[in-house]
Formats: sequence, C-alpha cells, structure tokens
Amino acid sequence: ITSLLTVTFLGMTALQAQNAPLDMDRFVDALLKRMTVDEKIGQLNLPVTGEIVTGQAKSSDIAGKIKRGEVGGILNLTGVERIRDVQKLAVENSRLGIPLIFGLDVIHGYETIFPIPLGLSCTWDMKSIEESARIAAIEASADGISWTFSPMVDISRDPRWGRVSEGSGEDPFLGSLIAQAMVKGYQGNKLSDQLKRDDEILACVKHFALYGAAEGGRDYNTVDMSRQRMYNDYFPPFEAAIEAGVGSVMAAFNEVDGVPATASRWLMTDVLRDQWGFNGFVVTDYTGTMEMVDHGIGDLQTVTARAINAGVDMDMVSEGFVSTLKKSIQEGKVSMTTLNTACRRILVAKYKLGLFQDPYKYCNPKRPARDIFTREHRDVARRIAAESFVLLKNDAPANSPHPVLPLPLQGTIAVIGPLADTRSNMPGTWSVTAVLDRSPSLIEGLREMVNRMDEMPLNQPGGPWYLPLMTTEANINLLYAKGSNLVSDAAYEERATMFGRSLHRDNRTDQQLLDEALATAKKADIIVAALGESSEMSGESSSRTNLELPDVQQTLLKALVATGKPVVLVLFTGRPLILNWEQANVPAILNVWFGGSEAAYAIGDVLFGRFIPGGKLTMTFPKSVGQIPLYYAHKNTGRPLKDGKWFEKFRSNYLDVDNDPLYPFGYGLSYTTFSFSDVQLSSNQLPMTGLITASVNVTNTGEYPGTEVVQLYTRDLVGSVTRPVKELKGYQKIFLKPGEAQTVTFNISPEMLKFYNYDLKYVVEPGDFQVMIGPNSRDVKLAQFTLTK
Ligand code: BGC
Repeated sequence: ITSLLTVTFLGMTALQAQNAPLDMDRFVDALLKRMTVDEKIGQLNLPVTGEIVTGQAKSSDIAGKIKRGEVGGILNLTGVERIRDVQKLAVENSRLGIPLIFGLDVIHGYETIFPIPLGLSCTWDMKSIEESARIAAIEASADGISWTFSPMVDISRDPRWGRVSEGSGEDPFLGSLIAQAMVKGYQGNKLSDQLKRDDEILACVKHFALYGAAEGGRDYNTVDMSRQRMYNDYFPPFEAAIEAGVGSVMAAFNEVDGVPATASRWLMTDVLRDQWGFNGFVVTDYTGTMEMVDHGIGDLQTVTARAINAGVDMDMVSEGFVSTLKKSIQEGKVSMTTLNTACRRILVAKYKLGLFQDPYKYCNPKRPARDIFTREHRDVARRIAAESFVLLKNDAPANSPHPVLPLPLQGTIAVIGPLADTRSNMPGTWSVTAVLDRSPSLIEGLREMVNRMDEMPLNQPGGPWYLPLMTTEANINLLYAKGSNLVSDAAYEERATMFGRSLHRDNRTDQQLLDEALATAKKADIIVAALGESSEMSGESSSRTNLELPDVQQTLLKALVATGKPVVLVLFTGRPLILNWEQANVPAILNVWFGGSEAAYAIGDVLFGRFIPGGKLTMTFPKSVGQIPLYYAHKNTGRPLKDGKWFEKFRSNYLDVDNDPLYPFGYGLSYTTFSFSDVQLSSNQLPMTGLITASVNVTNTGEYPGTEVVQLYTRDLVGSVTRPVKELKGYQKIFLKPGEAQTVTFNISPEMLKFYNYDLKYVVEPGDFQVMIGPNSRDVKLAQFTLTK
C-alpha cells in the first residue's frame, strides 16, 4: 500500500523506483517541491521516545507530531512491532507519507553483545571487527532499527575520560582501520546497495570532533587544540569513515576553538564537506542544539540557526529546529536554500536505505526469532571476546616452573570477587538492548564449562587457535566467594541505580566478606580474582580521577595474594587502570574488558588454555594519573632524558614517577613466546616514487601455538615541524605453531610518511627516517633509511 503512496511523487511504480536508483535526484526533487516549510523542518527533527529515555526530552505527543509531518526519525524506539506501528503512522497518516528512520545506539552488538569497543580494538583483527558490526546490523535491522550511532572513533589519550571504553584507543592509524571496518560491517560496501538488502543499516560516525580531548578527561569539557594536531591525530578516523562511505556524522557536544562543535561551520562544512567530500547528513548529539544555550552563545533560536547554518541537518531531541527554524527563516536568519539542502540530505539517506521503496523493509516480524541472538552469532561473539582479552602478566608462581596460566585442568579453583557472579556487569557500557541477566556470570559460565568439558566443541569456526583440551583428564572443582562489594563509595551505587543496574551490594560487613573469601581460598589450589570496574564506571559521564581498583577490592586482592596461593587477576575494566601494585605482586593478570554476552565462556576458554590470548593494548596504561596524557606517539622536548635515566636535573620529568607507562601501547602477552630478528631493509634509500620493504623474522619460541601482532612504526627524524617519536604505520597478525618461524614483510612508501605540516598541507619531506618493528611500541628493533628527493 505504502509504495503506492510513494509512487504519487514519481509517477512510477514501486518496482520501477527500485530499479531506477539513478532517478534518486529526480525523486527527491519532486518530493521537495511538494513539501511545505513545516514539513521540511519536520524532516530535520529527531525526537526521542518517552518510553525509554525521559528527562529533558520533549517527547510528548509523538504520534500527533508524526501525523502532522513534524518528525523525520525516532530515537530509541525498539521492537519490530512497535516500529512498524509508528512507521505506519508516518506512512499512512501523514500528508506525504514520508517514512521515518529509527535510530539507536547499537554500539557493540544488539542482543548478541560483543566486547566494548576498546576491547574490540585490542583484537587488531579487522575481519572480526567488521563481523561484529555486521552481526549487530543483522540483529538491529531484524528488530526494526535502520540507523546506528556507531562507530565512535574519538581518539583519546586520557583514561580519566569514561568514554574511552566506547572508542578504539589512542592511535589514529589503527583507529582509521577500525572506523572503516565498522562502517563496512553496518552498511555493507555501499550505502545505496541497501536498496536491495534489509539487513544492513545506516552508520553514524561520531563525535565530530575532538570529544576525546576534553580538558582533564572530564566529560563534555572544553577542548582547545592546534589544527596540526587535529589533522594529524584526531581527524584521520573520521576521514577514513567518510572514505568508507558512512552515511551520517554526529556533531560533538564539546566546543572547538571557542565554538561548540554543533555550531562550527568550519568543522561541519569546510572540513567535512569541502575538504573531505562528505555528502551524507549531520545529526547533533543528544540535545546538542539546546545545550549551546548553556555554552553561552545565544538563546534557542540563535543556536538553532547557527547549527543549521554551520551545516548540521538533523536535531536530536532538542526539537529546536521545529520550534524556532520557521521564525529564523521568516526573519532571514536562515535561508530556504539552507533548509532545502538539509532536508534533501535526509531524504536522500532514506532513499538510499530503500525506505521509499519499502518503508517496512526493516519491519519483518519473522526476523527477530530467526536472526537475533542466534547460536551462530553467539559463537562469533565468544571467539571475538577471547580475541579481545589482553594478557598483561603471566609469571610462574613460587616453586613452579610453569606460568600460572593456562590453569591446570585438575584441582580446586576458587573464583573470588565482586565481579565473579554478576550477570548484569558482563555486557559493559552502552548495551541498551542487551537482555540483562540472560548471559551467565563468570562463575556460572565456568561451572557450565567444567561440568561439560567433554562436550566442548574442539574446533570452533574462525581460527586455528582453538586448541583441543585434554578433557578426559579434566577434574576441576570450582569454589566461589564474593570477597567484597564492588565499591564502598555511594556515588557509584547511585549511578549504577540510575542505569537500572544494581551493584548487588552485599549487606555483610567488609570483614565478613573477606573472612569468607579467605576460608574459600584456603581450600583451593589456585585463586581466580574477578575484580575491576562495574559496567557503569566507564562510559558516558563516567570520568574518574582515581584509576586504581576500588579500595575494598584492593584490600581483598592483597589478602588473597598474602595467602601465598597463585592468584590470577581477571580484570574487568572499561579503561586503562593504574595497576602498579598488581603488576608487582600478582603473578598473572588477564585484562578482559567487558566481553559481552559470551564473556564468561570466552574467559573460560582462555583460562583453561583452549584459546591462546593474543590481544594487544590500544591505549597506554600509565603508572600514575599524574602522567596523563601519556601516549606512545609523543614528541621529544628539547630536554629529553638520556642513557636510560628516569630523572635528571632540568629535564622533562617528574620528581616522583618516571615518564614510562606501566604497559605500553601495543603490549600484550601470549601463553607462548616469540623472538624477533633484526630488521632487514631492502634498501636504505627510498626514492620519492619508490618503495622499500622492511622485514623481520618472527619465531614462536614457546610451547604453545599463538598469535603475534607484528607492529611497524616509523619516525621522521628531522621535519619542518616537530614529529612524534614513533607512529604506527602497519601491522600483521600472524599465527605460529611452536618452533615455527615466519618472515614478516612490510612495504614502506613515501605516501605512508605523509603528515600535515604547519600550513596544514599533507606532505612528505625527504630526509632520514627510522623504522621500528616489534611486538609492542616499546620493545622494537630499529633500522634507518633516507627518503631521497
Ligand atoms: C551520546 C551519543 C549517543 C546519543 C544518543 C548521547 O548522550 O553522546 O554518543 O549516540 O546520546 O543516545
């Protein structure tokens, strides 16, 4: 029926519309001609459904607004049936029947939840990352969603900022690859291919721009940065997403250069459209328009006019466009051309999504049962979770020749800690569509695995690194104790409650909990301590200044280590933490981030040696909050430290801590070990139009098979402007059996050595360069070449 409505604009049948994507311009022009000013403004309006998020949202009478053509899309509505009903209102009850788009934060999965994005990035596996986004798109689209507010590509070098959990860490090169993989996963190869498909959705790269550089790591805070740094370090993932064809961009909350990003014509038009050729639409962040009143640049009408004049097309939640834009047009503050341009961009996105051809294409009621939380999706999530874990330490305990991990398959294991038995803390931040409490807690997952070891499939799809376990010999006895509460601080409790996630406070005293834990530990051969942040201690509006384990958990961990039994710290976290004591005193540390719906099994796979960990950090772990920002691609000062000293008079250092991180960018161990040969260059002269190669020979020198991420860094030794001491330029993730060796070769081209100079020109400058290859950004082997004219 609905397609019949759309044909009235075109004078052709729905089928013809489907077969004639080239007629998009004609179609949209014809539609625009029939629209009133109010209807055009309506397309720019993205209200939020009251059911899910209330608060400042002016969400009343959405149905009435839809019928009057005052709505272009809906935020946060879920459920295929409900979405169908609401779509029906737009298509059958509004004058022009223009379909709505339904946007939601599908950040790391829909119901099958993948690791938080920071964890996902530690896989360094673009296929897996794309696959996770692909599955998220399949599930979200099955439930009626046509638009996700992902990928979040904000580079951040400040772990105090809670939203580092949602991004891909500190590096622009890796961040760019991940941005592209995610866009491809959500949208497929080309947005307009969706005319044919119903399981790909529109992506939205966010938050443009510099949101991750908030002063002091305090969310939403002021940003002030040189343009050179923006172009070299913070912009690349956005540009990469645009290159990959991302259909929409979200404006950031923060100011940039004294102007809120949402009102920045320089960002939204000059950079985004004129320099990068972006031709999709820009949406504000949640109430981003009206927040500019508090930024202090004018009343709602003024800021709204500034946003659209800057190049913003859609207004999320503020409803500032619908309430003030007409007046601004009448007063000549916004032109009709500007309105038409914004409206056109949104109609084009809907057209490319195929919504004019079939407004109900994402409303197939049979799909949820078929496509959501399937066995297949969960198996992929389990594998990817295991891939995201980073082994930070794995020493042999006293009196043992073997590292603590993998765990022996015989004996008694005490699983202790406030994160050992909490289902709701498994998915991590931004998992609004996760069915909470459906996926097992760590101890539940481990129990299930231990009881059914012999039933565990030996060869999972997706990689040779699943090992057969000696399951016939397995005889594991699992014990559990809570040990402590998650936090002692009431503010955290309050926050968790705000998000509907209880911290499961145990009303016993700290001492009672500890006594029980120690009694349990006494009966065990090995202790697995499940500690860290709760789910909502990272994510939006979750900045922290103290990045150590919460004090009650530290007390517990110290007591467990003091028993003298081997302890494995299974660390849940949404950000780099300060782990000096843990690194010095706990024999094994496995960072598991928040691994998603299958995390418990994935942790089991790694602990029991069924999956060899190989994740690598994408964000530096500092030794002290006072060192922040601390990142590997820093620059030298005129007073660098020399000869391995960590402190010298009148040098760039602190009195109380050295300049090194605890764990550097790119770091992560395996159950096996790898050796790296020296770097071989095919030539030490690289001509401007040429290519050289850099190779190393990597050998698996340990007893397990395993993956290694071989990382290539370069340094521009002399530049017209100062250059970082190291920049990631490539990597290869390889798999080697014990004793096996492989030569890993990288091409080095002048193109790879380009950067934005003082005049913001993208240039490559002849001169001397270092090449560094290694298993992380610290332990690299060096070679040098000259880029000749
Ligand atoms: C966040 C965005 C998100 C939006 C919609 C905002 O608070 O900053 O990342 O997409 O809400 O839920």
